[in-house]
Amino acid sequence: MSDTLESARGFATIVKARAGDPPPNLRDYGEAVAGFRWDDVRARLDGLPDGAGLNLAYEAVDRHAAGPLRSKVALRWIGRDGEVREFSYGDLAEASSRFANVLGELGIGKGERVFGLLGRVPELYVAVLGTLKSGSVFCPLFSAFGPEPIHQRLEIGDGRVLVTSPTLYRKKVAELRPSLPDLEHVLLVGEGDEPTAVEGTLDYGTRMRAASPTFNVPPTDPEDMALLHFTSGTTGRPKGAVHVHGAALHHYLTGLYALDFHPDDVFWCTADPGWVTGTSYGILAPLLHGITNVVDEGELDADRWYGIIQEQRVTVWYTAPTAVRMLMRVGAQVAREYDLSSLRFVGSVGEPLNPEAVVWGQQAFGKPIHDNWWQTETGGIMIANYRAMDVKPGSMGRPLPGIEAGIVRHLEGGRVEEIAESDVEGELALRPGWPSMFRGYLHDPARYDKCFVDGWYLSGDLARRDADGYFWFVGRADDVIKSAGHLIGPFEVESALLEHPAVAEAGVIGVPDPVVGELVKAFVTLHKGYEPSEALRLELQGHARKRLGPVVAPKAIDFRDSLPHTRSGKIMRRLLKARELGLPEGDISTLEDPR
Ligand code: ATP
Ligand code: MG
Repeated sequence: MSDTLESARGFATIVKARAGDPPPNLRDYGEAVAGFRWDDVRARLDGLPDGAGLNLAYEAVDRHAAGPLRSKVALRWIGRDGEVREFSYGDLAEASSRFANVLGELGIGKGERVFGLLGRVPELYVAVLGTLKSGSVFCPLFSAFGPEPIHQRLEIGDGRVLVTSPTLYRKKVAELRPSLPDLEHVLLVGEGDEPTAVEGTLDYGTRMRAASPTFNVPPTDPEDMALLHFTSGTTGRPKGAVHVHGAALHHYLTGLYALDFHPDDVFWCTADPGWVTGTSYGILAPLLHGITNVVDEGELDADRWYGIIQEQRVTVWYTAPTAVRMLMRVGAQVAREYDLSSLRFVGSVGEPLNPEAVVWGQQAFGKPIHDNWWQTETGGIMIANYRAMDVKPGSMGRPLPGIEAGIVRHLEGGRVEEIAESDVEGELALRPGWPSMFRGYLHDPARYDKCFVDGWYLSGDLARRDADGYFWFVGRADDVIKSAGHLIGPFEVESALLEHPAVAEAGVIGVPDPVVGELVKAFVTLHKGYEPSEALRLELQGHARKRLGPVVAPKAIDFRDSLPHTRSGKIMRRLLKARELGLPEGDISTLEDPR
């Protein structure tokens, strides 16, 4: 495994060359924070004509279509079989207007929920934008969900319209439809020009062709509900987070600073719009900036992905740790067979990005991978490694200008206080009030209220802040292991194991123990060319002890062929634990390939 770093190597700060063309948008972090005003961000958006408010889709599409960007490529879609289709800002404006008119003709009004259950096909993007324009609310569903999770979300979300395909409808919706009385209309996106003809449904193509391509966006208050996003369900039953049109400010800001968008950029976010990353960054942020957004219908495959970066000359690439680990498994030499020189910035979100992976980016792409942190609830990136900032591998970076993040400790009586000292672990918290903040968990106000204590939004994640103001992820509060008086974050243990050349992926949990409280136990998958053996187990334990010390190193290591992941690619530690302890598995609606 020549690509894997030697385990003895420390993770030094990656100091960036300051030259570069174009210069980064965020050049001086301190200055940007000190001079920050949300009004300045608002001034970069147009607002609806005649002061009629702020509408996400108008800002993302219509305002560009009405100006010099009209014929610029907004969406470059790559089909599963390699077919490429381009949609200009003008095309997207017309298609989304048609969709808004279709909803109007169906009597779907402001605030009513339109669900999407489709693969990454152009019609999905049109439906999202058209729904937002119309004032209705879009809720994306991941197309690989089974019938139960789909039903559950349609029910919680009061779905009135579902846009899906004939196959997905027959397989996953038809049977449970009678128990969804609110679901009035199902629009089916067929293949080719042949109208779909499934009982109880409408044909998307026929309706779209008959609809007018012009639509006047109705007055939209920035506080109007725009999107409903279900969380990943990593820790339990997924929650429906409510987002508003005003989120456009934050999507714009993070596109500018965290992803460093420049006008000629070709951006590719690999997340599916079924998850918040695939909507906030897979659709909205790049369009708000008027750049070209690449969408790939296909699935993760190293050659396919590197081929796309090479052919599309992708400049900014936003992906996830699970994908990076998979690419690492294939090896950096595969990346080097492609011309990836167009890449200026590579970002990652969704899970902690192991330091090993940050540094691997340097080997594979000549660029470190920039980790950033946020949640479905935050609607956009909150803490990030910026292009101009030196990277400390393993750190999530620093809060966006405009965002105040803190580490808090819990006190008696349910109160919290900020921890002023650096390098102390506590709960990661944010000062409420940023524009893309969720405005509620749908139908669950009590759960929403519980997130806000003493002027902080509590994230449910544990972290620490170092003396330079960089934040370091420790673990989800639910996943943290308490052993012999120590708090152990699984991420630290997993990262150390990943430094061993044999280890491809690691998931770490605490197993109850009468003496120390919880014992650290690791589940690992191996790289090609390595086989599980007692000798390897001892070697991994020795390696971990050397790196972490005897208290933190795992006491037990099990080899696995694969680890359980959510469909959005996160390791489900709670499931590893439930299975280890023979406990009920809980809500596994987001589990990838349940078995
Ligand atoms: P649920 O809330 O339903 O259990 P979830 O928290 O996984 O699911 P998301 O909102 O998709 O749902 O994920 C946000 C969480 O993902 C964060 O709270 C954090 O635990 C983790 N996460 C995201 N980005 C990072 C990162 N860069 N480093 C560490 N953890 C991250
Ligand atoms: Mg969560």
